[in-house]
Amino acid sequence: MTRNKYDVIIIGAGASGIMAAASALKDNKTVLVIDNQDTPLRKVKISGGGRCNFTNLDMSADHYISENPHFVKSALKQFDVSDFLQEMDKNNIQYHERKLGQIFCKNSATDIIDYLLDQSKGADFSFTTDITSLKKNNNIFEIKTNSGSFNSASVIISTGGISFPNLGVSNFAVETAKNFGLNVIDFTPALVPLRLENPYTELAGTAFPCKTSIGKKFFYDNLLFTHNGLSGPAILKVSSYWRKGDTVGIDLLPNMNIKQIIDQEKTSNIKQRIHSFLKNYFTAKVANWILYETDIDNINIQGLSNNQIDLLHNFIHFFTVKPVGDMGYDMAEICRGGVDTKELSSKTFEANKVPGLYFIGEAIDIAGNLGGYNIWFAFASGFIAGKCQSNNKS
Ligand SMILES: Cc1cc2nc3c(=O)[nH]c(=O)nc-3n(C[C@H](O)[C@H](O)[C@H](O)COP(=O)(O)OP(=O)(O)OC[C@H]3O[C@@H](n4cnc5c(N)ncnc54)[C@H](O)[C@@H]3O)c2cc1C
Repeated sequence: MTRNKYDVIIIGAGASGIMAAASALKDNKTVLVIDNQDTPLRKVKISGGGRCNFTNLDMSADHYISENPHFVKSALKQFDVSDFLQEMDKNNIQYHERKLGQIFCKNSATDIIDYLLDQSKGADFSFTTDITSLKKNNNIFEIKTNSGSFNSASVIISTGGISFPNLGVSNFAVETAKNFGLNVIDFTPALVPLRLENPYTELAGTAFPCKTSIGKKFFYDNLLFTHNGLSGPAILKVSSYWRKGDTVGIDLLPNMNIKQIIDQEKTSNIKQRIHSFLKNYFTAKVANWILYETDIDNINIQGLSNNQIDLLHNFIHFFTVKPVGDMGYDMAEICRGGVDTKELSSKTFEANKVPGLYFIGEAIDIAGNLGGYNIWFAFASGFIAGKCQSNNKS
């Protein structure tokens, strides 16, 4: 670092912060990025199992949770998925679509990390730097750190949420927001496995496609039984809406009608036993479990009473669980909550009450669904806040 005065200082070198740096540099701003860890983009590196699911072809505000569901709309309009994919093509970054519109790096998350770092060349970086104070005096922000003091006309806070604490997360964004008199919404774990009082441990490790629902929201994806309860994308998605006391609905065989199928089989396949019939749709273990839970013996399908058929139908299509909790921040992919969006401009991410102060990424009360929506919002908000620096010059 050769200076201590910048047009913009970005606190947090994650997906949103690095994108903000790249975007502000395009406008010839002087940029300093501060991070309390020793490397940038650590969450991006482990995202999507190392292949970074960075966006989704089905992009809309419906995939985001916030106290203000409309807030994200402007950002999604300003930062376009197909434009970004063209930019990836131009830079020879290979990606591919997996199920449900999810776009992953084809080789490794490192491809997109290298791209972002290349785009942010020209910024100064200060790693392993702890901020001891952040104040605004006479329209200039003063940041004191263990590596010196810095001034800037604007500050972008991109310190993320508090999930995966081993990556060195902090509450910096919400604490700073509070110090400046802004409202915050408490963080809670989201995209997180759910705990059951009596988990189905005999099925731990078993996964299959199903439909989960909570209130009016429903998701088609894989369900995974664990030693503590339930996980898999179908449960992670539901978990972001789940509150203590809520019941989660699970259709174990979506888009089929087991009652109708049994009625047909009863006439055409009279010798078939119910366990081998269920094995047409589930593993032997799951078939055992269904019969155990419904207290039905492995009799011929023809011997099933109407009551037993109703029991099977209800169990398979209307299975419910009442989780006792979630697996906490250690296993949550993201956080719900953060800086209240009411405090921010949806067009620029600047705090309405504190000109020059911006909050972006997971630090604000926008939680994306599983499927590339969180990194996408981090990118979009970073790009926009970085671009909006044109009026601020120190
Ligand atoms: C295991 C895992 C897999 C994921 N996979 C995906 C995926 O495939 N697709 C997807 O869309 N999302 C995924 N996510 C979520 C996604 O990674 C995050 O939502 C996204 O990275 C948030 O970006 P951000 O810039 O807001 O915050 P972060 O990427 O968390 O960056 C915050 C930065 O701020 C720094 N920082 C924190 N506190 C301070 C402080 N006090 N002072 C200075 N610096 C500080 C941190 O060191 C970090 O560098 C995944 C998350 C996890 C945990």
